[in-house]
Amino acid sequence: MPDITEPTLLLDEARCRANIRRMADKAKRSGARFRPHFKTHQSLEIGEWYRELGVEAITVSSVKMADYFSRAWDDITIAVPFNVLEIERVNAIRPECRLNLCVMHPETIEFLRENLRRDVGIWLKIDVGYHRTGLGEDDARIGELLDLLAGDDKLQVQGFLAHAGHTYEARNREEIRAIDTAARAIMGRLVDRFSPAHPGLQVSLGDSPGCSVVEDFTGIDELRPGNLVFYDLQQYTLGACGLEDIAIAMACPVIARHDTKLIVHGGGVHFSKDAMVDDEGVRHYGLAVGDAGTNWREGWGTELNGLKLSALSQEHGTLTGPAEVLSRYRPGDIVLVLPIHACMTASDMKAYTTLEGKRLLHLEGDYPLKAA
Ligand code: PLP
Repeated sequence: MPDITEPTLLLDEARCRANIRRMADKAKRSGARFRPHFKTHQSLEIGEWYRELGVEAITVSSVKMADYFSRAWDDITIAVPFNVLEIERVNAIRPECRLNLCVMHPETIEFLRENLRRDVGIWLKIDVGYHRTGLGEDDARIGELLDLLAGDDKLQVQGFLAHAGHTYEARNREEIRAIDTAARAIMGRLVDRFSPAHPGLQVSLGDSPGCSVVEDFTGIDELRPGNLVFYDLQQYTLGACGLEDIAIAMACPVIARHDTKLIVHGGGVHFSKDAMVDDEGVRHYGLAVGDAGTNWREGWGTELNGLKLSALSQEHGTLTGPAEVLSRYRPGDIVLVLPIHACMTASDMKAYTTLEGKRLLHLEGDYPLKAA
């Protein structure tokens, strides 16, 4: 592997594998199926690290992702409300791959009956307080959908699926726990209410903050966290992980040095424009780790170095911070920056470079797959 010359997304494989193992072990202890969300890494190779720990079923957030991963996986849930416009793409996915779809509308069931040419599992998408989408606990369509699906061999009802994404608005671990408890209570009430007429209904839940902070998943049949594979500054700030768990960092070459700032090659097209406001009320796009002249192959340790990515344009990043830290860097040095939102940064970068110098492709750099 030649040395780094341009913005490069580094992956610490050992941290990543440890993150996966921790969550797989936790799920196992609670007797819950671990169906990780692959939208974060979108990599066939990283997917194999889950399989090595016994994971057999995965979650994705688009039909394109389902198509990509169906090359290697036999059980995939597309965890967004089904898009009827993509019916033919769903029909074309390798038939041996079991698919599960999310549905909210009775008319979608009618549509699937007429147009789908395969058997699928059906989850009812529930809103547990995030209010992005899903049926509210008291929505009459829940009963209507279950009645419509009763006894259907082609559209096989699985149960209730929800995403408590409002854990990302929590201010601390206690608030994350409270959101998780409330979400589980809603799902539990739904199961209690509808199970007498529709036995076997399952519960599928799982966001990374909730799954990281909570230890016991009683009452949940299936867990779907995704971000835990890398974690990021957002998760760290929420208390969902430590800095030592963050498994990706962007390596950015210094291209200019000013008295009060460094300019790096690494901008909005690399990091995404997801931002955070720190304790001092300053908006930033990432925080730097490591030191000038450190060999990136050795990773980035567990300490922030005080530099903040305080502005981004398309290709440039501006790092500000203590003069003493800024003065250590020269043009041509590499700054390692922890991203705010790993999923977005990975999607923008389309590939990973491990600390051992191996390049792993992301779906966005690898689709459509060339014929095997
Ligand atoms: N399930 C659904 C439906 C989601 O939308 C997401 C993330 O957006 C997840 C699971 C995974 O959650 P996280 O990104 O917190 O790991």
